[in-house]
Amino acid sequence: MAEKNIFQRIIDKEIPAQIVYEDDQCLAFRDISPQAPTHVLLVPKRPIPSLADATAADGPLLGHLLLVTRKLAEQLKLTGGFRVVINAGADGGQTVYHLHFHVLGGRQLTWPPG
Ligand code: AMP
Repeated sequence: MAEKNIFQRIIDKEIPAQIVYEDDQCLAFRDISPQAPTHVLLVPKRPIPSLADATAADGPLLGHLLLVTRKLAEQLKLTGGFRVVINAGADGGQTVYHLHFHVLGGRQLTWPPG
């Protein structure tokens, strides 16, 4: 069997993480290397390696994740605004191949990204 990726191990509670939200479909925890005062990763419990692998069948789950980011922004008091980022594939800067949404806030974010 293929080795579990780091996010699957966090979902399975095999390694610790600072969990800020959990429901039956997803888990959110603080990024180990925060790029903003608030930097949380939201991951689906159903493993999808990358957004590039998502299918129509994943639509309801993806919609749920997006709505959870809104809930997280409220919970984490990102009243000034926030950014949701999905890195996909090598050029997108993805390093962990378990789909995840970065939720960033707590400072003025710049554009364009690097
Ligand atoms: P990406 O580059 O979009 O694949 O994002 C992977 C993110 O996972 C990076 O922001 C890392 O800092 C973060 N990360 C890696 N390992 C852990 C961990 N054990 N706990 C929390 N965040 C992690």
